[in-house]
Amino acid sequence: MEMRGEENIEIGEDITPPLLPLSFSLHDSFRSSHCSSCFSPLSSPSHPSHAPLYCSAACSSSHSAIASSSSESLLPPSSPLSSELRTALRLLLSLPSLCPHLRRFNNGLLTNHHKLSSSPEFATQIRQGAIAMAAARKSRNGDCVLDQSDSVLLEEAVLCLVLTNAVEVQDEAGRSLGIAVYDPNFSWINHSCSPNAGYRFSVSPPNDTSFGEDSSSTLRIVPSISEDESGVCSCSDYMEGAKGYGYGPKIIVRSIKRIKKGEEVCVSYTDLLQPKAMRQSDLWFKYQFTCSCRRCAMYPSYVDHALEELISNPSSSSLHFDFDLYRDEANKKLSDYVDKTINEFLSVGDPESCCMKLESVLSLGLQIEQIEHGDGKSHLNVKFHPFHHVALSAYTTLSSVYRIRSSDVLALHSRTDESLFKAFDMSRISAAYSLLLAGASHHLFCLESSLLASAANFWKQAGDSLLSLARNRVWNSLGFLVSDLSTVVKYKCSKCSLLDISAAEFFSQAERANVENISSDFLACVSNMAPMIWRFLINGCHYLETIEDPFDFQWLALLNRDEEHDGFVNESSSFEHRAELYTNERRIHIYKVGIHCLMYGVILAQICYGQNSHFTPILNLGEYFVN
Ligand SMILES: [Zn+2]
Ligand SMILES: [Zn+2]
Ligand SMILES: [Zn+2]
Repeated sequence: MEMRGEENIEIGEDITPPLLPLSFSLHDSFRSSHCSSCFSPLSSPSHPSHAPLYCSAACSSSHSAIASSSSESLLPPSSPLSSELRTALRLLLSLPSLCPHLRRFNNGLLTNHHKLSSSPEFATQIRQGAIAMAAARKSRNGDCVLDQSDSVLLEEAVLCLVLTNAVEVQDEAGRSLGIAVYDPNFSWINHSCSPNAGYRFSVSPPNDTSFGEDSSSTLRIVPSISEDESGVCSCSDYMEGAKGYGYGPKIIVRSIKRIKKGEEVCVSYTDLLQPKAMRQSDLWFKYQFTCSCRRCAMYPSYVDHALEELISNPSSSSLHFDFDLYRDEANKKLSDYVDKTINEFLSVGDPESCCMKLESVLSLGLQIEQIEHGDGKSHLNVKFHPFHHVALSAYTTLSSVYRIRSSDVLALHSRTDESLFKAFDMSRISAAYSLLLAGASHHLFCLESSLLASAANFWKQAGDSLLSLARNRVWNSLGFLVSDLSTVVKYKCSKCSLLDISAAEFFSQAERANVENISSDFLACVSNMAPMIWRFLINGCHYLETIEDPFDFQWLALLNRDEEHDGFVNESSSFEHRAELYTNERRIHIYKVGIHCLMYGVILAQICYGQNSHFTPILNLGEYFVN
């Protein structure tokens, strides 16, 4: 099955109304902090308990009967698929019949039973889960023991349905609170690695209208049976019983590209900032299919190439090193090193050593060996290209670890000028990494527009960190008061139209599909200001000093040609005096670039998520634009 546009759809429009789930469940780790019925956070989280908790009487009365009659409390504690098992048990209460082929319930949802229950990864888990479900259902009815002869096929099919159709429900911080299964209007939307639609959740307590869902949005997509599926299953009472319980976390689908009438609408089931092989193995592992979307078919496109590109530096003795033979090995060795470093940080928590190790592998790389025909070995030094997907996630880690180091300095030392400056240095480098991450992901987004959500998120983070850098207390101690910035607050940029867009109107502006113009204006404008802040931001950080420009990556071409090249701005360590480094002019530039990044991130987020989503901090923008 697939879903197609019922009419022409512009970029950044809701294409479904808020859809209610058929069944859902919080993950174990959120059961003591969030409402089991609407998923909103509880005002007073309690101790972990087996019973579901609710935010309000309304949520309790709508959901507690289902939770208790589903017999989920009789599941063995902490089973590996516990949220899936709860979702499946709750779904069983409302499901109409299953077709004899076990392919589809007549609410139209595919079970994928034959594939999942024969896959080596899932078969045992599905079988054990189904037995646990059947035992719980049976003991609720007073029968204590599940008989060997009892069929668990129904439970297996429902569990497969949940594994195939459930989506992770995320809160505003991007945390996965739980899972939910939606009706075919969402579940029949197929995957693409270059999708034209995305989705968001609306999680709010009953009667809370503050999220202001646009109730006028209607369903603008229609189902269609793809050729290879017609006739496979004659049980065609699709959608007959497709109704849930009338509450729970809602999902809304939204276009992120222009969609023509009749064109298939797709969303992504995986992380799009991964190279092809990783997307494919992720999709195969979770859903047992091989993606043949446009982006996968065009492989290697520039974006997919960049996401796995390595830079190799042969020493003079290894001229015959056949790097292609060692590419996978080198990729794995480098990625393992980064994973190990991040895990070590998460368990031991030494931020300084984490930064040192990540920056050393980013700037120096690792050595791999080639055994020569004789006895000798030759060596090759390999490192990540700045757009490699592991490098991108290393920037994310470095940005947050430097932020942690900054607050550690303030917490652990007396607030002398020296510690203020030291903390500022850490915040400065953290901001530089978030700016590099935004610039690099933007470069990829310009060629693969489905990376919109990542770009929105990274620009917003870069904007936030630059603005807080411009307001850092260190400037006060130099005589540049935070209040000085109030002259900039009303600042309108003379070089681009980005900041003319007021909070009230930029949504419609974006809707007018003027995004490409806004993007190129924005990039030209920040590129113009970058030289005034970049060297300052990266001062003293060896890896970042090899990045000549965070927005305009033409220097990368040079990097590939000139193997000996190691750094463009070596003279940058030449800031000798504090007075030379910390000028009010520089701080105002940081502030201006910050406003640009934040505003642009908000515009992209509006396209992805709409005007009233949790992501769009319109309320905070008031701080920057005082009228
Ligand atoms: Zn609730
Ligand atoms: Zn694909
Ligand atoms: Zn501008």
